[in-house]
Amino acid sequence: MDLSIVIPLLNEEESLPELEQWIHRVMTEHHFSYEIIFVDDGSRDDSWKVITSLRKQNPNVKGIRFQRNYGKSAALNEGFKLADGEVVITMDADLQDSPDEIPELRKMLLEDNFDIVSGWKKKRYDNKLTKNLPSKLFNATTRRVSGIKLHDFNCGLKAYRRKVIKSIEVYGEMHRYIPLIAKWSGFRRFGEKVVEHRPRKYGESKFGWSRFVNGFLDLASIMFVGKFRKSPMHFFGFWGTVCFFIGLAIFLYLTISKFFFEETGLAARPLFYVALTLMIIGTQLFLAGFIGELISRNSPERNHYLVEETLT
Ligand code: UDP
Ligand code: MG
Repeated sequence: MDLSIVIPLLNEEESLPELEQWIHRVMTEHHFSYEIIFVDDGSRDDSWKVITSLRKQNPNVKGIRFQRNYGKSAALNEGFKLADGEVVITMDADLQDSPDEIPELRKMLLEDNFDIVSGWKKKRYDNKLTKNLPSKLFNATTRRVSGIKLHDFNCGLKAYRRKVIKSIEVYGEMHRYIPLIAKWSGFRRFGEKVVEHRPRKYGESKFGWSRFVNGFLDLASIMFVGKFRKSPMHFFGFWGTVCFFIGLAIFLYLTISKFFFEETGLAARPLFYVALTLMIIGTQLFLAGFIGELISRNSPERNHYLVEETLT
């Protein structure tokens, strides 16, 4: 199969028939064998009914329906499990991404030998203040901390090689950072294509301004986890030990000044409390590292490596 098109959706009943028709037209024009995987992320409208009836007309349509709303990341993750195409496309269901871009994305991915080709909504049709500006800031930060030179991480329209989506797991709210997750798994060839972005035709946006707060918190945690997941002790153990020994040194200094220089009223000196606090915090950090280490030993991913080739 040439293409799998994974489409997460939440309450998008009006858009689906138009989207399916459009994709079908593009696919037939280019003679691609394809599947459309609609992942209904707990819609409360008639989206699932629409998907069922679309499938009756077009056997290339497949669907997954969640019991409740789990979020876009979960929807993508389930869609990826089912996807079988050589190239996997993700796109939003709201007709803001154009299916006409798919052949070009696929061509770039295969001919220029990329692992991921990400869309770039250079000209956006969203509310200026609440989206465009924060989005610039968000992308600049992500570019810096991840070292991946993309302009539009959060673009829903992306193309992946099959092996990329089969070797990553998208969870929580991490759909904004799929290139970064892919980078951890050793994929480094990222391409970018300017794509057409269209105003939302039906329904409304599912993410409010809270996306930016959450987006940045997720970025902080993803960077941290990416660096120290396998060895929490390297972070907590180090800083715990540093704190503890600074505290201990101050304590020794205070003790010496008491016994050898006969200073009194040690417990009234601010330094005394600084030393005490440092030693307590140090011990706690160290313990946090130790417990983290025990948890990561038990993690099912502890020996999850991606072997590229073996010669036996
Ligand atoms: N979506 C989803 N689950 C959610 C929220 C959104 O599957 O919990 C889908 C939504 O139906 C759409 C895509 O994710 O297909 C992008 O959402 P939206 O268009 O609301 O985001 P925006 O374009 O405003 O960034
Ligand atoms: Mg949208």
